[in-house]
This record gives sequence, structure tokens and C-alpha cells, in this order.
Amino acid sequence: MRVSVTELVGNPGETRELTRAVPPETFGEDPWGPVVTAVEGDVAMALHLDAVVEGILVRGTLGFDVQLPCARCLEPQHVHRDVAVAELFLDPAKQDEDDEDDPGYELIDGRTAIDLSTLARDALVIDLPVRVVCREDCLGLCPRCGADRNRVDCGHRPGEEPDPRWAKLADLDLRPE
Ligand SMILES: [Zn+2]
Repeated sequence: MRVSVTELVGNPGETRELTRAVPPETFGEDPWGPVVTAVEGDVAMALHLDAVVEGILVRGTLGFDVQLPCARCLEPQHVHRDVAVAELFLDPAKQDEDDEDDPGYELIDGRTAIDLSTLARDALVIDLPVRVVCREDCLGLCPRCGADRNRVDCGHRPGEEPDPRWAKLADLDLRPE
């Protein structure tokens, strides 16, 4: 996702707001494909682009909804996230020969634009919840028969000998973080 920064480059102190809602595919399909499918709807970008001596400082928030299965009962859950970002896009003209490259975080197109794809992907991937539960007291699936115990009473009680096929589930740590 390219953004022109022509009027900012070389004018430290200048700032611009960037508010936009874009589908996650805008940030590319590979190699973060599975994440794209978890995001529902558009990613709301509310960013400030600040011109600094070293390049362009991009800061603000990315808001998005994700759909993930409950870790216990597997029911789809909808979670909203707001991720704070702050990244410096380096101006190659202000860099020394031996400065380290940070691919995706530099001015491109002859120092007239930045590409926000890497920033957005990094922010979304890092902040994607690893596991969610539909509610703190979700009863989960019965380790013996697999029934959703929030909905049905399958008659099996904790402490009973689990079906060997489900024995591994008993070892899972399902406590909320
Ligand atoms: Zn649940």
C-alpha cells in the first residue's frame, strides 16, 4: 500500500494525517495468508506521518476485527483489536553506507513514497490473539464424547475415565491468560 510523501520529505516538522479503511489484502497476500482470512472487514488506519530528519515517522493505530474459534468449544468469536504503531521509514539519502537496511521501512520510488504493507502486516500478525475463549466459564467440549457442554448435558462428568482417544485433551492447559 503505497502512500505519497512528496510534500513531507526534506521538510522536518511537517506532518500529515492518514485516515483510511482498507481491506487486509491491500497489504499483500503472502506470506501471511492465514492471517488475512482471520481478519474480518477493513483495517481502519488512523495514522500521523511526521517528517523528521532521518525520514518519515509513521505513528497511530490500526483497528481491525478478527474471527477466531473459542479455544474450548470452537465456536467462532469476534474480537476487536487496536494496535499502536510507531515506525521510522528511513530516507536513504540520510543513511550511511554501513547503516543496516530494514526492508519495508524505507522511502521508495526516488524518495517520494512509503509502502505501509510491511508495517501493517507486522502489526496485525504480532497482535493477533493466539487464543480466545467465548466466555471465562465456557465449559468447552466433553473430553469423552466431544459434545459442546455449553449446549447439551452429555451425561459425562469430570473425573470419569476419559475415552483414550481424547486423553490428550485432558493435558491441555485451557486456563485463560
Ligand atoms: Zn467457548
